[in-house]
Amino acid sequence: MPATIIDGVAVSRSILAELKAEVDALRSSHGVVPGLVTILVGENPASVSYVTRKIKTALELGFHEVQENCDPDISEADLLALVRRCNEDPSIHGILVQLPLPDHIDEQKVIYAIDPDKDVDGFHPVNVGRLVLGGDEVRFPPCTPAGIQELIIRSGVELNGAEVVVVGRSNIVGKPIANMLLQKNARANATVTVVHTRTRDLAAHCRRADILIVAAGVAGLVKPEWIRPGCCVIDVGVNRVGEKISSRTGKPVAILRGDVDFEAAREIAGSITPVPGGVGPMTITMLMKNTLASCKARL
Ligand code: NAP
Repeated sequence: MPATIIDGVAVSRSILAELKAEVDALRSSHGVVPGLVTILVGENPASVSYVTRKIKTALELGFHEVQENCDPDISEADLLALVRRCNEDPSIHGILVQLPLPDHIDEQKVIYAIDPDKDVDGFHPVNVGRLVLGGDEVRFPPCTPAGIQELIIRSGVELNGAEVVVVGRSNIVGKPIANMLLQKNARANATVTVVHTRTRDLAAHCRRADILIVAAGVAGLVKPEWIRPGCCVIDVGVNRVGEKISSRTGKPVAILRGDVDFEAAREIAGSITPVPGGVGPMTITMLMKNTLASCKARL
């Protein structure tokens, strides 16, 4: 039987509806709305597209949204000053600096300058530490891993005691999702293995997984024979493999593929996320959730 498709668009929609209800309640009970600033440096097309979608979602939820579009040649000092102003602005609860930044700016310096209590991306080392400690310490789980965890739970896949294999050990996906799923709580309790380019037998590890999370950035890396029958496959990869003409706009658009051979994998897996339409929409949704949480924490 082909796998159940985990529809990230539908799950996102239902979470956004929940968030909207909370935002409306917050406005009527306390006269407050969550404030999100999106800081974009330059006009990298992928960054512009991500930021545009974040702004649109924030506005749909009724957030106070501030767009800071900076020249590509803004100095590091000026960008840091902008971040500090946002730190001090009481109407702002979340600061989003769209990465990557141009080469002349030290990304780490900028991330470290964000007030950890407004770091809704969860990239500041204080929030990374809180995530590792787990429990009540966690303030802002990073958005893509938080979206993955939510997709697994809302699909009814059992995490408790599950063998989870994570392909990739990046700071934004692999390491945080591994940390989140091994925590001692009802939304985790998994046994987690993290594999990477130096892993001896990638296929053997993948074959053990009840839940396989792939964030490598290599189109079609995971072959169908690496998947245990019935496995829940979460494909985080977004790889541009070509271009096609959009039937809607008549303009060229990227053809995207995940890290998993989707068509073959769906014949073996129990459930699987498509690319696009799986993890992607969840990332923005979790950014909104973190911003709302930050606003509520301020009250
Ligand atoms: P990254 O920083 O490039 O890290 C990739 C990781 O995968 C590294 O740990 C690397 O191992 C490992 N890897 C690469 N090739 C491998 C191979 N052949 N075998 C085993 N491990 C391999 O990437 P990332 O930022 O985590 O992103 C991963 C993918 O997810 C990308 O396609 C990205 O576009 C996508 N992504 C999607 C979203 C979303 O919202 N949907 C968000 C973030 C990222 P080493 O450490 O040994 O080099």
